[in-house]
Amino acid sequence: MFLKSYYGMKPIIPRWLQIAVRRLRARVKLRTHAEVWPIDEKAAMPPRDWNGWPGGKKFAFILTHDVDTAKGQDRCRHLIDLERELGFTASYNFVPERYKVSEALRNYLTENGFEVGVHGLNHDGKDYNSRAIFHSRAQKINRYIRDWGSVGFRSPSMLRNLAWLHELDIQYDSSTFDTDPFEPQPDGVGTIYPFWVPSENGKAGYVEIPYTLPQDFTLFILMRHKNIDVWKRKLDWIAARGGMALMLVHPDYVRPNGFPPGKEEYEIDYYREILEYVKHEYEGQYYHVLPREMVSLWKAEHLTS
Ligand SMILES: [Zn+2]
Repeated sequence: MFLKSYYGMKPIIPRWLQIAVRRLRARVKLRTHAEVWPIDEKAAMPPRDWNGWPGGKKFAFILTHDVDTAKGQDRCRHLIDLERELGFTASYNFVPERYKVSEALRNYLTENGFEVGVHGLNHDGKDYNSRAIFHSRAQKINRYIRDWGSVGFRSPSMLRNLAWLHELDIQYDSSTFDTDPFEPQPDGVGTIYPFWVPSENGKAGYVEIPYTLPQDFTLFILMRHKNIDVWKRKLDWIAARGGMALMLVHPDYVRPNGFPPGKEEYEIDYYREILEYVKHEYEGQYYHVLPREMVSLWKAEHLTS
């Protein structure tokens, strides 16, 4: 019900008012969900027969980005440069029919050890309004998955129906989270590990890879944090429990150094800070891969169905 009204009303509600309402809701939820956010202790339970990460690493560390708008696409290079400088790789998920996705950027990413994924179709919040809509959009999404050489998908706004996702020609989906009561569809999957979504009606199964660090939008835009304390705290907890730290950062909200201040932005130095923190505090202890590489590991280790 909430989902329908939230998205149904979106076009007539100005952006500033949407944000104000979400901030208000976030403040209430912060109080009512203190036990499960940012850390839900129950989510630390490892999968059955878990043997640990390859090479005896303590935890997994994965970087992903959703590029929601053309502005975000224009800023990708700043994040890529930073990641390369510090020795990280990441996946970038683009929205195929909302802005013109740059072929040059896609190629640059894949040629430099990064990954390209698909982020919905046009980001209008309606993909899951009916099975018929999803079905027709899935055909188009599959075309982009094929054309871009992608194997992964993430739903806009984390709206999702894992059973319907079998229609996509994917090896993994990343539209879930361990805990995030601030999302429009707020139910978390309650684990800081990937898990296998078995095949259904003859359609192939896929690996589900939840994000496990709070989204940048939630921390820096909704909650207006001026530091990365929550990111560090959650990362330390995941590292101690031996799970998977997966970040979702939007280039759209990142302000590169030297850029004039804009609305709904935070400094790129916050992102630099968390990357440097991982690199220096946990040197040699993290299993850093692309989501697509996590699929191979999961299939090799855990694909029992
Ligand atoms: Zn998005």
